[in-house]
Amino acid sequence: MKITILTIFPEMFAPLHLSMLGRAEKAGLLDIREVDIRSYSQNKHHNTDDAPYGGGAGMVMLAQPIVDAMRDVQGEDFRGRRIYLSPRGRTLTQEKVEELAKEEELILLCGHYEGVDQRALDLCIDEEISIGDYILTGGELGAMVLVDSVARLVPGVLGCEESAQTESFSSGLLEHPQYTRPREFEGLTVPEPLLNGNHAHIQDWQLSESLYITMKRRPEMAQRFLEGRKFTRHQKKVIDAVFERIRQEDEAAAESARSEEEV
Ligand code: SAM
Repeated sequence: MKITILTIFPEMFAPLHLSMLGRAEKAGLLDIREVDIRSYSQNKHHNTDDAPYGGGAGMVMLAQPIVDAMRDVQGEDFRGRRIYLSPRGRTLTQEKVEELAKEEELILLCGHYEGVDQRALDLCIDEEISIGDYILTGGELGAMVLVDSVARLVPGVLGCEESAQTESFSSGLLEHPQYTRPREFEGLTVPEPLLNGNHAHIQDWQLSESLYITMKRRPEMAQRFLEGRKFTRHQKKVIDAVFERIRQEDEAAAESARSEEEV
């Protein structure tokens, strides 16, 4: 997969070339490039921004260097998606990440200051994506989040494709807790079902813990999971046990609140 990032701070992207993504680049699975928007500026001082029409605080990124950079990078027969990282965009989700991972090529535009001249967006952006409801100083961190989440779904990048399929969100539930050696650490032990080697018990425990965590932290997600699937009779028993565990916990919490009130 080819990913090109249009930015005025290309040096910010060093982390994308390390670790798993760095190895995938060396193996030829990924081609991640940063392109300096400033080098396309026709302005005498290579400026990339100017004051906004209509007044107001801050500067706006010029359309010319962005449009020229985009046209140069995409060439004649571009077949991919051109994305502007922006708080106005649709929020990035795992579903969107999976959709983008199917593209042959992505071009990402990082904004700065008050944003980008709308005409650059009208001329050469297919989609705006936000990484969350907060404002960053620039699109670079957003682009890194997007590249990291998409690139790891490119076949061969992770080395173990199964782990991407069983992770939080992909399975429809948040992930169960994970443990590694030693069996006991500071008095805390690894749950018994993970130690006895019985695959069916391990799967029951993982489903039960995933569902429990999701019901506690993301009830709307748990509801979607429960409504959207068919379960075996055995799985239904595991699910009922989770409901019972939460009912008992709620009852105990209500009881403790009542006795505190009485004191
Ligand atoms: N004035 C803009 C607004 O209110 O929507 C915010 C501009 S922000 C300070 C500068 C740049 O950071 C944006 O052009 C965008 O590229 C990036 N950015 C900021 N927040 C972001 C977010 N939540 N997701 C993705 N990119 C973001």
